Amino acid sequence: RTVYVNGAYVPEEEARVSVFDRGFLFADGVYEVTSVLDGKLLDFHGHAARLERSLRELDMASPVTMDELLAIHRELVERNGVTEGMVYLQITRGAAADRDFVFPDPDKTPSTLVLFTQSKGLIDSAAARTGIRVISIDDIRWGRRDIKTVQLLYPSMGKMMAKKAGADDAWMVEDGVVTEGTSNNAYIVKGNKIITRHLGTEILHGITRAAVLKFARESQMEIEERPFTIEEAKAADEAFVTSASTFVTPVVAIDGVSLGDGTPGAVARRLREIYIDESRKAAI
Ligand code: PLP
Repeated sequence: RTVYVNGAYVPEEEARVSVFDRGFLFADGVYEVTSVLDGKLLDFHGHAARLERSLRELDMASPVTMDELLAIHRELVERNGVTEGMVYLQITRGAAADRDFVFPDPDKTPSTLVLFTQSKGLIDSAAARTGIRVISIDDIRWGRRDIKTVQLLYPSMGKMMAKKAGADDAWMVEDGVVTEGTSNNAYIVKGNKIITRHLGTEILHGITRAAVLKFARESQMEIEERPFTIEEAKAADEAFVTSASTFVTPVVAIDGVSLGDGTPGAVARRLREIYIDESRKAAI
């Protein structure tokens, strides 16, 4: 596989990043995951806009323009022959001479840019067919979850807690209400109303969330953006999650409580279909 590191396309075995890189030492970096269908990028501009916002919030500079970034995405997809899968992108604050909490001078320490691809079937997934089971866990992450940083230890631990409990993923709960999944946004459906937490610093502003809510509105579905409790979720008719790489995935159980008849709900299945059709048509 060919990967991209700081201006060069190299075989993955030859790719190098310094041990002093702040992404490695401090998780001082941001990332994006963009899906590929039919060899084309889904919602690239949405991901690029969120990346620019993440960088701005952390006073970090991008080493390339968003047009250059698009060209790099396309080049990697082409070189690696990706028809279905994803492109991962990471920008860190670079490798300063010494380990120091203070940010280095950006003129002396350029940021690090890394991209790689993963080929993977996205449309036909077991999770989409059968739905996933989630458990609830405390949300103990930091307070700026709207910035897509590479600090993913707790979400990773949450996923392990879910596996240990015989489930697939975890929904995080703070002040009694659900924030989001470990790597996705969370939704419940009650009486044809789609309920999902409003945007704020408590959750990541999902690019898939924005697209799915837009398509849902265009299909005259009713949407409420507000917090919901885990008890309300357990009593819902159905539930689902969204993310760039899993699209819309039905949730069939929460903390061992089956939703509806325990199979993927009609709203989730319909939204998955609409999302795939529409974003595929708009892919670049
Ligand atoms: N929430 C969290 C915590 C995530 O990590 C992700 C994706 O990685 C999402 C939500 C979904 O965002 P997107 O739809 O942009 O992939």
